[in-house]
Amino acid sequence: TLEKEMFSFQTEVGQLLEIVAGSLYSNREVFLRELVSNASDACDKLRYAALTETGLASADDLAVTLEIDSTSKTLSIADNGVGMNHADLLETLGTIAKSGTGAFIEALKAEEKDRLGLIGQFGVGFYSAFMVASKVDVVTRKAGEVEAWLWSSDGKGAFSIEPTVRETNGTTVTLHLKADAKEFAEEARVKHIIKTYSEHISFPIKLGDETLNAAEALWARPAKDISEEQYADFYRHSSHAYDAPWHVMHNKVEGSLNHTSLLFVPGTPPFDLFDAERKSHVQLYVNRVFISETTTDLIPAYLRFLRGAVDSQDLSLNVSREMLQTNPKLAKIKTQVSKKVLSELKKKATKAADDYAQFWGNFGAVLKEGLVEDASLRDRILELCRFDTTGGDTLTSLSDYVERMKDGQEAIYYIAGEDRAQLAKSPHLEGFKAKDVEVLLLSDHVDEFWLQHITEFDGMPFQSITRGTADLDQVKADEKQDSQDKPKEADLSALIAVIKVELGDAVKDVRPSKRLTDSPVCLIADDGDMDVNLERLLKRHGQ
Ligand code: ADP
Ligand code: MG
Repeated sequence: TLEKEMFSFQTEVGQLLEIVAGSLYSNREVFLRELVSNASDACDKLRYAALTETGLASADDLAVTLEIDSTSKTLSIADNGVGMNHADLLETLGTIAKSGTGAFIEALKAEEKDRLGLIGQFGVGFYSAFMVASKVDVVTRKAGEVEAWLWSSDGKGAFSIEPTVRETNGTTVTLHLKADAKEFAEEARVKHIIKTYSEHISFPIKLGDETLNAAEALWARPAKDISEEQYADFYRHSSHAYDAPWHVMHNKVEGSLNHTSLLFVPGTPPFDLFDAERKSHVQLYVNRVFISETTTDLIPAYLRFLRGAVDSQDLSLNVSREMLQTNPKLAKIKTQVSKKVLSELKKKATKAADDYAQFWGNFGAVLKEGLVEDASLRDRILELCRFDTTGGDTLTSLSDYVERMKDGQEAIYYIAGEDRAQLAKSPHLEGFKAKDVEVLLLSDHVDEFWLQHITEFDGMPFQSITRGTADLDQVKADEKQDSQDKPKEADLSALIAVIKVELGDAVKDVRPSKRLTDSPVCLIADDGDMDVNLERLLKRHGQ
C-alpha cells in the first residue's frame, strides 16, 4: 500500500472520542501525562527488545522530546522507542487497546452520572489527546524496519494511514491544539505539567536543551530523601492512579538475593480488582530495566491490589517474560516481598485499627483469597483478617474474639450469607444472643471457601451456627437469666412427629433446638453436610 487508506474507528472508540472531545474536562492537562507515558513505555519496550532479540541495535540515549510551535499552535511528543508498523497502528490506535478503556466504557454505560469523574478515574490513554487537539498526527517507524507511517485523525469517526519518512525508529505525536487549548503551546505551562505528572519517568523528557524531569528511578534513592508528596506523585504516574496511596512500603533487601521494592496500597479499590483474570500490576525491573507488568510470578493474586515496582539486579537481564514462571530466584523474591507486605499490614493493623478498617473494607475480600491459595502464609493472613460480629459495630480479629469467648464456649461461631444486614437478623442467632455468645457475620463469597480449608484458630474450631448441633448447654448463661423462671421444657415429641410426617423427604430430620428464642423454627444443615449458604452459592455457579 503506497497511498492513503481510510479507516473507521471501532464503535466503542467512536463513542469514547465523542465523550472525550466534548468534555470541558478541568483536568485535561493529563493528556500530556498519557502521551509521555506512552513514549516512555515505547522506550522501555525497545530497551527490553534490544536485550532479548538479536539484530536490534542497543538502545542508548533513549529520551522523550517535546517540541512547541507557538505560531502554528502545535505540541509534539517524540520518542526514539520501539515505534509501530502498519499492523501495530491498526491494532492499537483505532481499537480499544488499553484494558482500562474497555472498562471505562462499561462504567459509562452502567451509570449515566459523572462522566468527567470517570475519565479521571480510568485515564483514557492515547485518546485523551483529543481533549485538547482538533487533529492528531502520528509519525512512526518500528525498530528494525525501514517503512514509516503517518496516522492521522480529527477524532470524528475515522482515521487515515499513509506511508511517510522518518529518519530513525520511534514515534512523534503532533497535536494541533484546539482554539480553547492554546495554553498547551506555552513553555511554562508544559514544563509545569511535566513536573507535576512525569517527574519520575525514567527517561529524560527534553524541551529544547533542557531536561525537565529527574529521570531516575525513585526506588533507587534512599527512603529518607524522598518526601511523601514525591511518593504519591510516583504512585499516581506509575499506576495511572488519581488517588493518594493508603500506605507506602519502600524496602531494600540485601543478602544472597538483592532487591528493592517500592509498593503502594491504593487509597481506593482499582476498577479491575474483581476481574476474573486477577492480574497483578506491580512492575518488575532488572537493574532499572523494565521487564514486565507481571501476572502472578512476582506478586500473588491475593495481593493484586498492590501497585509499584520491584527491582533486582540479581535476575539475569535477558530473562524472558515466558521464563519468569519457572525462575527460582523470582519465586524467592515473591515470597520475601509477600512476607514483608503482610508484616507491614500487621503493623498497621496493630497501630492504627481505624485506618486498617478502611483498608480492610477495600481489600479484605481479596486478601482472604490467600487463606485458600497460600498455605505457607495462611497463619499470617488469618491474623490480618477482620470480621463483622454480633459483639459490636467494629470489626474484630480472631484473637480478640477468642479472648472474649464465654466460659465453656468451645468453638468460634459464625454465620455465613450474602448480606450482612440480613445475617444480623437471622433466627439462627437467637439462642446465641440469649446467652450473649458472639457470632461472626461472614458475608464475603470467599468466606465459604477458606472455611473449607481452615478448621480452627488458636485451637478453637470454627462452627457454623446453621449446621449441626451447636451446643450451647456448656456455656454459662448470664446470672440474670439463670435467676429467671424458665418455662418447663414442653414435650415436643408429638409435634415433631407430625412435622416429620408432613415434610417427609424434604428434610433429613426434625429436632428440638435451644438456639431459638423468638422464632418457631429454623433450617440447618447436618454436621458434615455442606453449609446452607455454600450449597446455595455452588448451585448458583452450576455445580
Ligand atoms: P496503554 O498505554 O495503556 O496501552 P494507550 O491508549 O495509551 O493505552 O496506548 C495504546 C497503544 O498504542 C499502546 O499500548 C501502544 O501499543 C501504542 N502506542 C501509543 N503510543 C505509542 C508510542 N509513542 N510508541 C509506540 N507505541 C505507542
Ligand atoms: Mg498509555
